[in-house]
Amino acid sequence: MWTTNGNNSLKGVRVKRGGALWGAPLNLGLFLPPFIDLNLKSMEKRVDIWADIWLFYVMAQILSLGDRGDHQVIPQPYPHILVESKKKLHGWWEGKRECTAERLLLNPYNGCSVNCFFCYAHALPGYFRLFRERGILTVCRDFDKEVAKQLDSLRVVSCGYLSPVTEPFQGIEAKYSLSLKIIREFVSRNIPIEFITKAPIPEGAIKLLTTQKHSFGQVSILTLDEGLRQSLMEEGATTDELFDNLRRLAKAGLHSVCRIDPIIPFLTDGKRELAALVQRAVDSGASHIVASILDIPLSMAREVWAKFSSLGIEKPLRELYRERIGNSLHARIDYRKRVFGELRQICDRLGVTFALCMEYELRDGRPIGLNRVFMSSTNCEGIDIPIYVRRDGLFQPAASCTGACLTCKNPICGIKELAMGREENLRKSFNLQDYRRWSQGIEALELI
Ligand code: SF4
Ligand code: SF4
Repeated sequence: MWTTNGNNSLKGVRVKRGGALWGAPLNLGLFLPPFIDLNLKSMEKRVDIWADIWLFYVMAQILSLGDRGDHQVIPQPYPHILVESKKKLHGWWEGKRECTAERLLLNPYNGCSVNCFFCYAHALPGYFRLFRERGILTVCRDFDKEVAKQLDSLRVVSCGYLSPVTEPFQGIEAKYSLSLKIIREFVSRNIPIEFITKAPIPEGAIKLLTTQKHSFGQVSILTLDEGLRQSLMEEGATTDELFDNLRRLAKAGLHSVCRIDPIIPFLTDGKRELAALVQRAVDSGASHIVASILDIPLSMAREVWAKFSSLGIEKPLRELYRERIGNSLHARIDYRKRVFGELRQICDRLGVTFALCMEYELRDGRPIGLNRVFMSSTNCEGIDIPIYVRRDGLFQPAASCTGACLTCKNPICGIKELAMGREENLRKSFNLQDYRRWSQGIEALELI
């Protein structure tokens, strides 16, 4: 729960001690109704839902910044607070993992002024709620220094991923440059880093990426129609600037990915429109396409339906969104498979690879990833990046492998636990402690 020092004034925000952590069990109330609605018959489904509840709880802890107390709201250029953060770098979330390669995830900002109405980060706990409820961003002061410290404590790393639940180059970046500084911390140690953006990419970021062999950029483009784009989000680059992002990445020799993520049924899903979008992305230099179809977290369904109602598509969407996986509503599987099949054909014809992001179908009540049917690349981001290890001061690729740890059966990098294609490896998510443990293991191996 957020409390203020002066009702709705922007004088200050008081963040209760442990708010995110203790708020999580209370939020479990959000998840209890499914037990009644679904009339679950099998134990397996119950286990799956409890796994989601556990995931939410773990995320609440990871997203909790460990900084509690009074915060002055700084009004310009966007209302925001500054917090000290010791957030740890971490891998993918526990749960239905589809991402083939390892990443070190990090968010220097909480809340996002691009403010896409459908953004699933609106449903996240911790400081994300401050943005959702009050429009106040949270900036992790000097987070680049904390990231540098953590990187220096490791001998084994994976590619950085900036930033999975906020826009790294949103307006506030012009004041604090945290994303740029973090990119510098990675590439100066020869560690790869990637980002996903809907904003104009600063030239400095592209320059830094070019100094590291496996670093790359992904640009999220939902539609060719600039008017429609503006109705889906409050800020962000114009459509022309987004394609120019792809062009500038490719021109600099970087792997350039276009994400149509998410496709919004009845708004951006026309076959001809999608083909034209992919064509323009390819003409601009993209060599890989990632797609997904909008899913609607139950905890923000009311706002999303209201928006669809104002766009005049609520009724057909309610007909379409009849599937529920975990705590989200999904478009019917026959619709999703049709759109993905069409996109795969378009990409094959235009000579670029294609993958999905977090798309599943339910089989016997279990979510099964759809990438096994539709992906044409080895890794979902269309680029093969191995784990890196530190040797003689700088990081270098640990092995000449594809970096697809999720399916790997032969861990030539030396880290058996990472090769999740081996039957005995049941764990699919890793944290900073795991990287530290592997770092000690690598050290021991090299001393033998
Ligand atoms: S740009 Fe990304 S993080 Fe920001 S609101 Fe849109 S979807 Fe969410
Ligand atoms: S050898 Fe296998 S487990 Fe190791 S980094 Fe490469 S893909 Fe991952």
